[in-house]
Amino acid sequence: MYETIFDKILSGGLPVDRVYEDEDVLAFRDINPQAPIHVLVIPKAKFERFAEITSRPIEETGRFFSAISKVAASLNLDDSGYRIVINNGRDGGQTVEYFHAHILGGRKFAWPPG
Ligand code: AMP
Repeated sequence: MYETIFDKILSGGLPVDRVYEDEDVLAFRDINPQAPIHVLVIPKAKFERFAEITSRPIEETGRFFSAISKVAASLNLDDSGYRIVINNGRDGGQTVEYFHAHILGGRKFAWPPG
């Protein structure tokens, strides 16, 4: 696994606008926001793609998704709603090979996605 920009962020080598951190995850604002609120959540235990999640401990996955919910609530998105996006691989639009989830909120999203 090569070092990605998210590895650098996690090790403190690149400043970000942090919104939440616990022993499992780090959440920070996306540098190129696609909505008024656009936050990325990354697990501290690195893997590259969602497709690998079957080989991760189920408790780790549970804590990750639980953290997403906590972060969204802390951003006051529970009432209005929000979208969670996980891009996987080339056709999914993944540009950083470090598994992560996007939390998008503050506007209404279209369906189907583009
Ligand atoms: P994805 O296309 O799903 O791999 O998402 C990668 C996301 O990382 C994109 O939305 C980028 O805007 C975001 N990103 C890249 N570099 C940084 C950075 N230094 N700080 C915050 N977000 C970043």
